[in-house]
Amino acid sequence: MEIYILSIFPGMFESVFGETIIKRAQEKGLVRIEVVDIRDFTHDRHRMTDDYPYGGGAGMVMKPEPIYEAMDYVKSKSPDVHTILLTPAGEVFKQEKAKELSKRESIAIICGRYEGFDERVRVLADEEISLGRFVLSGGEIAAMAIVDATVRLIPGVLGNKESLKEESFENGLIEYPQYTRPRVFRGMAVPDILLSGNHKKIKEWREQEAKKRTIKWMGEEDG
Ligand code: SAM
Repeated sequence: MEIYILSIFPGMFESVFGETIIKRAQEKGLVRIEVVDIRDFTHDRHRMTDDYPYGGGAGMVMKPEPIYEAMDYVKSKSPDVHTILLTPAGEVFKQEKAKELSKRESIAIICGRYEGFDERVRVLADEEISLGRFVLSGGEIAAMAIVDATVRLIPGVLGNKESLKEESFENGLIEYPQYTRPRVFRGMAVPDILLSGNHKKIKEWREQEAKKRTIKWMGEEDG
């Protein structure tokens, strides 16, 4: 899979993509991530990517030209790239979307800054995604979250296939409670059932607990 991220702060991605699972996925050749600096596609001395809004108002707006040229560059390398625009108002990102994206060959994620994009940038997008109903200072943190959730679903990225099968949102359920040693920690004991060695009963208990959590945390909006 190829992932292109368009940003004016490419340095922000170095540590997140240079560690642990995403790093290993790149080393194994399962994903190639290219962070494209939108400023490289400006033509003025100050490498401006923003300008004042027509009609007045607070803040600056991201200019369309450098973003279009950065996307021309991405498309020259990957003509069928699926393009995502990050906005607070887009479709809220969920596990289903991560699964869908993990099956694509090539995606581009455009990160906004300032007061957002010139409206004509929307034309570039196949879809608009939001990390949630809050406003971030820029799309970079949202892009990191989307890439992380997506890359770990690419076959071969996680060592243990079972860990994906039992994870939250698989089969519409939130994962059951987990415990490790010590058996009693600050007066809180591991439930006896998990120490019983009775695998059938443990499985039933986990299913029940997963259902309880799902009812508690997943409202109608989550499906
Ligand atoms: N003025 C915009 C508004 O009211 O909708 C907010 C712009 S925000 C400060 C700058 C950029 O951060 C946005 O263009 C978008 O790319 C990104 N961003 C902010 N919140 C986001 C969210 N919840 N999900 C995804 N991207 C977000």
